[in-house]
Amino acid sequence: MARYLGPVCRLCRREGEKLFLKGEKCYTEKCPFERRGYPPGQHGQGRRQRPTEYGIHLREKQKLRRIYGVLERQFERYYREAARRKGVTGENLLILLESRLDNIVYRLGFAPSRAAARQLVMHGHFTVNGRKVDIPSAQVQPGDVIAVREKSRQIPMIKESVEAATSRGLPAWLELDAEAMRGTVKSLPTRDQIDVQVQEHLIVEHYSR
Ligand code: SF4
Repeated sequence: MARYLGPVCRLCRREGEKLFLKGEKCYTEKCPFERRGYPPGQHGQGRRQRPTEYGIHLREKQKLRRIYGVLERQFERYYREAARRKGVTGENLLILLESRLDNIVYRLGFAPSRAAARQLVMHGHFTVNGRKVDIPSAQVQPGDVIAVREKSRQIPMIKESVEAATSRGLPAWLELDAEAMRGTVKSLPTRDQIDVQVQEHLIVEHYSR
């Protein structure tokens, strides 16, 4: 499937905030956003026009899409599913995105970023309930056990990431056995357990036009 392959730091500058797309680098002073927090391109430092209402909704949608590394069509499918489900559509949308296997791998600390997690999942390094799953968008359910496959435990990126992730902290809805390189989804997250700074109601308004 086609995927954005350009410089990801540019996406943070475009959205005007840090989206934490590059793993450890995002937490250091090497983060380009710290030095050039203005939009990319020739006119990035020029006077900015006041955004329209449509522009504000669009930016919020793009921001969320980029955080989870989801393409437009797929994002629309998530939105439709979120709207179909009971409850608040914006919250449903975030929960669906959080339940992606690549996100869980990242949240458990087996990968430094969601992009790296996607790559590792696609290369078949993880099992869900004992069976190999190589689909990054696979939805996990409460009770599912996600583990690094035996033969993949020595992969430097995974080992280093597990060590570094301890400082990042683990969401309360996940459980990790770092020794065994295995994590469990205790429950699906609630909105206040998802530390993504988006105003999801603006995304709902974008799609409700
Ligand atoms: Fe964004 Fe991370 Fe790049 Fe900083 S280092 S601009 S937070 S992707």
